[in-house]
Amino acid sequence: MPICRVLIVEDHPFQRYCLLSQFNQIADVSVEAVADGCIALDRLRQSHYDLVISDLMMPNMDGVQLIQELALLAHKPALALMSTLPERVLLSASQVARFAGFKVLALLCKPLGVEALRALIEQVPDAHAAASDAEPWVHTPDRRSLVMALRRGQMRAWFQPKQCLRRRRIVAAEALARWEHPELGVLLPAQFLPAMIQHNLESGLLSTVIKQTVQAQSRWRRHGHQVKVSINLPTHLLDDGHLADRLLKQVKAQGGEAQDIGFELLENSTVRNEGNYYANACRLRFKGFGLAQDDFGSGYSSYFNLASTPYNELKIDRSLITGCLENHCLASTVGSIVALGRKLGMTVVAEGVETDREMAFLERVECHQVQGFLISPAVPWRQFEQLLVAQDHGG
Ligand code: C2E
Ligand code: CA
Ligand code: CA
Repeated sequence: MPICRVLIVEDHPFQRYCLLSQFNQIADVSVEAVADGCIALDRLRQSHYDLVISDLMMPNMDGVQLIQELALLAHKPALALMSTLPERVLLSASQVARFAGFKVLALLCKPLGVEALRALIEQVPDAHAAASDAEPWVHTPDRRSLVMALRRGQMRAWFQPKQCLRRRRIVAAEALARWEHPELGVLLPAQFLPAMIQHNLESGLLSTVIKQTVQAQSRWRRHGHQVKVSINLPTHLLDDGHLADRLLKQVKAQGGEAQDIGFELLENSTVRNEGNYYANACRLRFKGFGLAQDDFGSGYSSYFNLASTPYNELKIDRSLITGCLENHCLASTVGSIVALGRKLGMTVVAEGVETDREMAFLERVECHQVQGFLISPAVPWRQFEQLLVAQDHGG
């Protein structure tokens, strides 16, 4: 294993001494410590470190200023932030780092034990492996290639299960778009959705996803599986006063039923006609479609929107679930969102569940459903069917 180079930035002499001696007990680590952000910056300009573990409150240059200065360096080390300040300050400082493009491995409350440091070192990405695992760089697709991909059926709906926490069974799915590119392999929305938005092709994508969803549902139904699927609906499409009618017409034309389909809406500021937004939201529900508030708790969601739109489902954003076990503020926030969703009569779904411990926590706070890599990532319809078959056979 290559040596992991660690730089400790801590103004308090005793804390610095403790950290140094704890890191020295860990194999394959080479550790240095400095007392101040300015000295740290000099070291980092001259030499490569894999991990910087920094205090926040320091004289001369504090931890936040240090992060902002480090952002200008070509090589970004992984970061861990530590403090005796309240957890919310740590969380806030970590956002500074994330927005500057750093990988933040941990937020640590002092004092730290050697086991916490060992766990931290295990998370440090191996710089050599990281370089070879990196996603292939893809050109921004032009309009023509996107249109051709839609026409040739390369834009596919994959399905990620939503599992009922009480029954531990898959009860629904979310359709997620994948571009099955003949040369580049399977591309994620981050690699093509911005271009689709730019070229005004979201309606085309929506039609494709609806069509494939209804098809998949009818295949699953033939084998005795009734699965509701929700589809991501760009909120600004609700500006079109006829959207609800059009969507029902399309679903019917493909042989589907509104009751089996839901739409996930992000609240955002791009709606031009608020009247049409609400009219479409109401009318989608009148027709039997489900309606979910997506990514609740992330940047865009507001309580007024939640209370005034006829949602039947509330999806808690992954940013609140990730790290909620290590952070009381996040845990309390998730707990109260679940309680709020339940009070409003909605099904509450937690997104981005990756560990058994997160799942157990969500069960304790009485969340209804979970979605995340712990259950399964999004998969093609046939593989999704295998998940359903496996659970029927007790798998
Ligand atoms: P979203 O609607 O919030 O979808 C959830 C995203 O989280 C998906 O990313 C999913 O693969 C990912 N995810 C699920 N579980 C986990 C987990 O446990 N850990 C982690 N790290 N990630 C998890 P994906 O498929 O890359 O989609 C990204 C976004 O692209 C979606 O976010 C949605 O806003 C948009 N999108 C996807 N499909 C469509 C589509 O058909 N139409 C439109 N308009 N947008 C879509
Ligand atoms: Ca979604
Ligand atoms: Ca989401």
